Amino acid sequence: MLYNGNMSTFKRLLDFFIKLPGVGPRQAERFVRYIEKAPPQYTHELSLALAEFKRDSKQCDGCYMYFTGKEDQCAICLDQSRNRKHIIIVEKDVDILALESTGIIDGIYFVLGGLIPIAKDIPTHVRYDALLARIKKEKPFDVTIAFSVHPDADHTIGYLNNTIQNIHQEGSIHILGRGMSIGMELEYADPETLIHAYRRRTTHQSENSPLSVHTVKKQVRQK
Ligand SMILES: [Zn+2]
Repeated sequence: MLYNGNMSTFKRLLDFFIKLPGVGPRQAERFVRYIEKAPPQYTHELSLALAEFKRDSKQCDGCYMYFTGKEDQCAICLDQSRNRKHIIIVEKDVDILALESTGIIDGIYFVLGGLIPIAKDIPTHVRYDALLARIKKEKPFDVTIAFSVHPDADHTIGYLNNTIQNIHQEGSIHILGRGMSIGMELEYADPETLIHAYRRRTTHQSENSPLSVHTVKKQVRQK
């Protein structure tokens, strides 16, 4: 990298941008170059906007999504017209934004905060206990697990399915249909693909699954 100015301040700012998701070194350098040439008023307002945004951001104590506002919960969790008997579990905040862009989700969300790696099989880095507490509290009729298409996601679905069944056997667990291609991140899926996957969601089946049996019986009764 060629740079004729103060390399330490340039590098310091560059390192901030490289940490942003989806930003590579070349794009980060373009951002720094842009800020270098921008009027002082712009950079002053940018720094104020960053500080104020961070000051007003908080984590929802219902779904764990970050949001800006004065309440303890986000607008989705506070929306009384939402179906509280349908909980949609997602891996990360941005997945909620992608699913909400479809306009067809009626339930409330829970951000797990990651996936359970196949190699580990212990949910230490995700909000596992908080999820089970919310399931016990809300007693949902439906739980939809909406993850990206990934081996760790499949492993996490299996793990959650078994443990949710153990504490709450009155509902059904659904997973997204395979409208999404393998390796696709949910946050980058377009609304039409997500609508397709959501409408084709299926009940998760596993061995020795009393919940799956219950679901099948319920479906037969409805026919
Ligand atoms: Zn919330």
